[in-house]
Amino acid sequence: MTTVGILGGGQLARMLALSGAPLGLRFLVMDTEPDACAGQFAPLLVGDYRDEAALAEFAGRIDVATFDFENVPAASAEWLAARVPVFPNPRALAIAQDRLAEKTLFRELGIPVPEFAALSTRAELDAALATVGAPAILKTRRLGYDGKGQFRLRSLADADAAWDALGAQADKVGLILEAFVPFDRELSVVAVRGRDGEFRAWPITENWHVDGVLSASLAPARVSDALADAAIAHARALAERTDYVGVFALELFCKDDRLLANEMAPRVHNSGHWTIEGAETSQFQNHLRAVLGLPLGATRMLGHACMLNWIGAMPDAGALLGEAGGHWHDYGKQPRAGRKVGHATLRADDAAELAAALTRVGATLAREAQVAPVVGRLTQP
Ligand code: ATP
Ligand code: MG
Ligand code: MG
Repeated sequence: MTTVGILGGGQLARMLALSGAPLGLRFLVMDTEPDACAGQFAPLLVGDYRDEAALAEFAGRIDVATFDFENVPAASAEWLAARVPVFPNPRALAIAQDRLAEKTLFRELGIPVPEFAALSTRAELDAALATVGAPAILKTRRLGYDGKGQFRLRSLADADAAWDALGAQADKVGLILEAFVPFDRELSVVAVRGRDGEFRAWPITENWHVDGVLSASLAPARVSDALADAAIAHARALAERTDYVGVFALELFCKDDRLLANEMAPRVHNSGHWTIEGAETSQFQNHLRAVLGLPLGATRMLGHACMLNWIGAMPDAGALLGEAGGHWHDYGKQPRAGRKVGHATLRADDAAELAAALTRVGATLAREAQVAPVVGRLTQP
């Protein structure tokens, strides 16, 4: 009996555990919160990721460790890796945790990125603005998620406001200024690399964010084969350079058919949730296969799929479940403003059918604004 340890007990751990059950796997989830939603399906060890005694107990009860939470302290990941196999490896995790290290690596690999400059003082912000230009986004280097720890500067006149918002964090997490990209669309590559180096990517996904939080994903993205090949080649280069094992996502901006990399996520990713019903093998299943050294499953998709995130509170499931290709995921979390509490996936054999289903669901749930950009993309000539 193999036990997979997961650091972090949110919905990603929950979906990993659900996906691993048919493989006969056992799980142990570690989280700082006693009500972590993965705990509804897997034994939960409540503890601080920095606490050696808690980590030792965790290590003693598992055969292999992986992550649901990308900000597990690098030192804790390394401590664990000295005792049990840990995938992805702590070095890859550390790079993905720091926007500066991540963007520097992208550049080294020839993956285009927006202009950027690291900074830690108010004077350095002025210097960074002089090189990066405006509009720009000031971000914390570490610990940001769902668009938190970011400030948008429309012009140089916003420098004071940006510093007021994030300057206090400069010492603790570092700051980075990035050029604002007036993108046409946002894309992601969700890919997996096995212990033996085998690499597979799912079809490219197009993503829509609202206030920095993912709102909807569509797969396959309507992009040329050349663009898809380039995006997947970037993801592959990244995985090979970091000796990555498991699933990860590479987030990309697309402007005039040019790709610019935004960030990588060293874990299964929200933009890959559609793979549960929309692909031959889901990202969760392939992540587990990768970390266990099992053969990877095919990543081809079945028709067209759209994932809608439910933020704050769950809508009524009825409209969605009434659709032939409708699939419901309630993470079992308490409602809270801005919190990801669930998602739905609609799948259809052709694009017109998917657009029609999305339109019906959007109208019934009063989510017209959420489905509109996806329907627009599906119905564009
Ligand atoms: P995630 O939840 O994806 O980890 P995050 O907090 O790490 O989010 P980013 O992915 O960097 O943050 O930014 C969130 C969103 O904000 C992006 O998906 C994009 O919509 C927008 N954004 C971020 N950086 C830029 C940029 N340089 N130019 C334009 N838009 C941007
Ligand atoms: Mg991020
Ligand atoms: Mg992101």
